[in-house]
Amino acid sequence: MNRQSTARSDASPLRPGEEYRRRQLVEVTIDCLAELGYAGTTLLQIARRAGVTPGLVSHYFADKDGVLAAAFRTLVRRVGEQVRVRLETTATPRARIQAVIDANLAPELCNPRSGRAWLACWGQVLQVESFRRIQAAYQRRMLSNLQSALRQLMPMQEAHSLAAMIAAMIDGVWLRAALSGWRESDSDGARALVTAFVDERLKGGASADDGSGPLSASSTADFRVASAAGKRLASLNPATGELLGHVAIAGPEDIDAAVLAARQAQPCWAATSAAERARILRRAAGILRARNDELAALETRDTGKPIQETRVVDVVSGAECLEYFASLAQSAAGEHIDLGPRAFGYTRREPLGVVAGIGAWNYPLQIACWKAAPALAFGNAMIFKPAELTPLSAVQLQEIFLQAGLPPGIFQVVQGYADTGRLLTRHPDIRKVSLTGEVGTGKAVMRDASATLKNVTLELGGKSPLIIFADARLDQAVSGALLANFYSAGEVCSNATRVFVHRSIRKEFLRRLVARVSVMRIGDPLDPDTQVGSLISEQHLQKVLAYIARGRAEGARILAGGERQLRGSLAKGFFVAPTVFDQCHDRMSIVREEIFGPVMSVLEFDDEQEVIERANATEFGLAAGVFTNDLSRAHRVIGQLQAGTCWINHYNVTPIELPFGGIKMSGLGRENGRAAMEHYTQLKSVYVAQGDIDAPY
Ligand code: NDP
Repeated sequence: MNRQSTARSDASPLRPGEEYRRRQLVEVTIDCLAELGYAGTTLLQIARRAGVTPGLVSHYFADKDGVLAAAFRTLVRRVGEQVRVRLETTATPRARIQAVIDANLAPELCNPRSGRAWLACWGQVLQVESFRRIQAAYQRRMLSNLQSALRQLMPMQEAHSLAAMIAAMIDGVWLRAALSGWRESDSDGARALVTAFVDERLKGGASADDGSGPLSASSTADFRVASAAGKRLASLNPATGELLGHVAIAGPEDIDAAVLAARQAQPCWAATSAAERARILRRAAGILRARNDELAALETRDTGKPIQETRVVDVVSGAECLEYFASLAQSAAGEHIDLGPRAFGYTRREPLGVVAGIGAWNYPLQIACWKAAPALAFGNAMIFKPAELTPLSAVQLQEIFLQAGLPPGIFQVVQGYADTGRLLTRHPDIRKVSLTGEVGTGKAVMRDASATLKNVTLELGGKSPLIIFADARLDQAVSGALLANFYSAGEVCSNATRVFVHRSIRKEFLRRLVARVSVMRIGDPLDPDTQVGSLISEQHLQKVLAYIARGRAEGARILAGGERQLRGSLAKGFFVAPTVFDQCHDRMSIVREEIFGPVMSVLEFDDEQEVIERANATEFGLAAGVFTNDLSRAHRVIGQLQAGTCWINHYNVTPIELPFGGIKMSGLGRENGRAAMEHYTQLKSVYVAQGDIDAPY
């Protein structure tokens, strides 16, 4: 047998463990190429660094050229994948050209490690046939992507010659920058150069574009995922009415295809070492942090929330969650159980397989990260459906995961309405659904999931109480009540919209509260000074206004706000002034039902036991808070409150380390904290006999 015939052929099916080993060897080879160049990279070097024998490397790749060709193919595939994802999320010809530029000059390709590895491979293209073929495919693909976009803007011949120029620019700019050790230009500089060139060439001719306007790399217009039926939904900026773009609605065929891709990719991901999974999640967190401001602006435009919030919360919280679960990935251990001298047992934590995440519209990126991080850390594949009103940032997250090295198929975003969600919850090959949404949706999801006995995690609505005792530090309590009601224009599930204030301090509390509410700045969410942005939609605005009207009709007294804001450009959006109701009682609809808007109800109480009973007199049980300086009372009261998440002398802070979730009608299961591990893994018990079997037969 010659060495060639003992090597695994690329086409032969690999088991997950083998696939993992193969990928590990390819990664090590890329590192060697970057550090040692082509000549210095040997089978021995690769084997040493991977901690295996050279024979094992030959087993998979035959010889040095075999493993180097696999590394080159991986580098080329990565660019291809980047291009594919970017093309899927853009629709206009100009945006497609930009996608090719951005993918080929992305920061992951324009850095010393990647640069040296590519240069080492390019150096062999004229000598080694397999390298020549890989390079030819790479060049062909880039040209054809550019040509097909340009053909929509100009006659064919012109399109082909401009495509060749842009391709030469991309490769030329990259090569000069790489040869200068990235001193002449970095990724941003390289992209800016080629973008300027393309803009210049398209001047005048761009009118042939399809009407969505010119796009920059980070523009939001026209995000898409594949859709067999070709139906789309539009995403609007609720603060201005501006059309942000369209996404394609996933139908049954799309969901089947996504599930199949996830099923195929998941075993290999599960077999990837926890350390490697953790590295990829950390890289994704790094990219999120690096793109914080841009993603925050996108989230602000899609949700109407103030940029002063999204810049410090939404993206950061997502990154923190990825980092936290990256660190937990490696500690997902089972137990050893002593069963006497003749046996022992152990348990293994194993992934569930393919899981689905369905998100609400108030914290789209954060919700996507909170669900994806534990799912991926513990070896599952996730298909995520954002809310129809806020579809954009999840697409960016999918792209970021791929950039970070997540294998295709492990995190996929599908878009659509409730029908698309139902396709996920009813799919027989999905093992779990994690929903963030309303109670009614939670019930529907649980019903649908029961047919295939899926695990469910439900993060649902609330009508949470905040109890302020007479001994509380009053200004702190006012701050807590503001945070508990007006952050994100009140569109926060855990908001404490029932504020119980001890009778002896009610007047002073209200005086200080109203003074601070009346100076809150309502305005353009992109203005860093704005504190209250737009509600999510016209329909939601009407719901909130209807509740305010009912509150008035039922006899509550408005101390602040209570109206839609229509001055100037605010009329284009759905702005409601932060509203404070006094003289509320427990039977009013504003006190019993979730409004999900900037509406606070203040209630009076006299003693501890009374307020605990009233606080618990709700079907919900998501959150609760207590302000008091009496240590014993704080813990005594918290111990009796029926809520999954509680705060003492604070409100609405949600560190990733603490599990988050509700009881009663507010949900099932927990997100974040070590507890989330339970919800994204399953336990296998193994009995190991150490003696003979006493068979009675
Ligand atoms: P919805 O329940 O209306 O929607 C949530 C998601 O479920 C959306 O993606 C929606 O799609 C989808 N969906 C709707 N019906 C079904 C179905 N039958 N099967 C599968 N999926 C379905 O919630 P909102 O988006 O309006 O969000 C607001 C609610 O979310 C509030 O009640 C709030 O309290 C709660 N929430 C809870 C949180 C928590 O952690 N406990 C955090 C944030 C919000 P589509 O958008 O297309 O309708």
